Amino acid sequence: LYNQVQDLKGNIRVYCRVRPLRGQASGLTVVDHIDDGSITIITPSKYGKEGRKSFTFNKAFGPTVSQGEVFADTQPLIRSVLDGYNVCIFAYGQTGSGKTHTMTGPDVLTDETKGVNYRALGDLFMISEQRKETIFYDVSVQMIEIYNEQVRDLLATDVEIRNSSQNGINVPDANIVQVRSTSDVINLMNLGQKNRAVGSTAMNSRSSRSHSCLTVHVQGRDLASGTILRGCLHLVDLAGSERVDKSEAVGERLKEAQHINKSLSALGDVISSLAQKNSHVPYRNSKLTQLLQDSLGGQAKTLMFVHISPECDAIGETISTLKFAERVSSV
Ligand code: ADP
Ligand code: MG
Repeated sequence: LYNQVQDLKGNIRVYCRVRPLRGQASGLTVVDHIDDGSITIITPSKYGKEGRKSFTFNKAFGPTVSQGEVFADTQPLIRSVLDGYNVCIFAYGQTGSGKTHTMTGPDVLTDETKGVNYRALGDLFMISEQRKETIFYDVSVQMIEIYNEQVRDLLATDVEIRNSSQNGINVPDANIVQVRSTSDVINLMNLGQKNRAVGSTAMNSRSSRSHSCLTVHVQGRDLASGTILRGCLHLVDLAGSERVDKSEAVGERLKEAQHINKSLSALGDVISSLAQKNSHVPYRNSKLTQLLQDSLGGQAKTLMFVHISPECDAIGETISTLKFAERVSSV
């Protein structure tokens, strides 16, 4: 039933989320209003041509919407992984717009504040427990980072940089670890975070310039028939989408910016050609879309969380983020 309901909505969903203003008067937001699925933005005259523009998505979440409410609209996708579907969930937006907040949560995690990753794993284990009389599930995870089009295995103890093109399919040549509970996954996520910081002096800036992907592989064996079902869930915290000032970026910074730009537009191209049901889908243009190829398109389901910052001075990035979102959306 869940999949029937989901199928009616199509395989690509775009949810927009606005983070709260940071320590400013509420009058200073560019968000005019938010409806169930639409968001209206005001461009103040100071920042260009004054005006109001509306964008429509599958869902729009305002700054007061809780982590739990956001997850409620994500939950059916998680359930479909246990039915054998491949699912990709992306967090897109400029640095500071709330991507990590949605996927992981704030620094201090509680049951209320924990993000999609934790809730998704919690659901996977809960549902597999509920089904244990009929289906036996095996769950394992991988964690990788893509930085400058190179894939790094975050669960390898040596954290060497590996190139993942060996096997060509969506499982990179990265450690895959079996897990039995949410706490196993939390331990691995912590290890991955630690590894991510290795070799980078400024952890925050590095993490905002790389994509990180937590992949959960699920294999279910029907105890009566012996039939095997396979599904996987990719939880991707993307690199910051902000445009880097060309006059300022040089050397490493320029190279990073070019890689990010290229891979985010490659992702946008893939999703928008899927949304338009084009016969050719350009998966080969970036490492990210190559790795996720088997989980983008076909029967697979995609959810893009698009994040915006409400502050006036972010208006340029906000509009370009919303345009990106509109392009990948099939609404
Ligand atoms: P990004 O990962 O896109 O760079 P973060 O997730 O780190 O952005 O968010 C920037 C800051 O804003 C963090 O301190 C985060 O906890 C806070 N924040 C983001 N979204 C929300 C939200 N919906 N509610 C409360 N705080 C948020
Ligand atoms: Mg982040």
